[in-house]
Amino acid sequence: FGDKFKKPEGAWECDTCMVQNKAEDTKCVACTSAKPGASAGASSSTSSAPVLGLAEKFKKPEGAWECDVCLVQNKASDVQCVACQAGKPGAKVEP
Ligand SMILES: [Zn+2]
Ligand SMILES: [Zn+2]
Repeated sequence: FGDKFKKPEGAWECDTCMVQNKAEDTKCVACTSAKPGASAGASSSTSSAPVLGLAEKFKKPEGAWECDVCLVQNKASDVQCVACQAGKPGAKVEP
């Protein structure tokens, strides 16, 4: 049993046009309908930016600072580099 429709692992069928798509496709390759049940809201929402988006470089949040050691950008609220733990330049480290 089961060999009749031997789908690749994770393959899914489009509800709209019945085209079979690969697991890594999040949209139908034929009609671009969203994958049914795909929870990763990759579409309309713009609230969550990619982790190291290039655009982030050009719009720094207020008070953001760049680590002198590893050049990672940190938030104003960080007193140490999140990546290498170097102290924030010019920040007084309270005992
Ligand atoms: Zn489709
Ligand atoms: Zn650093």
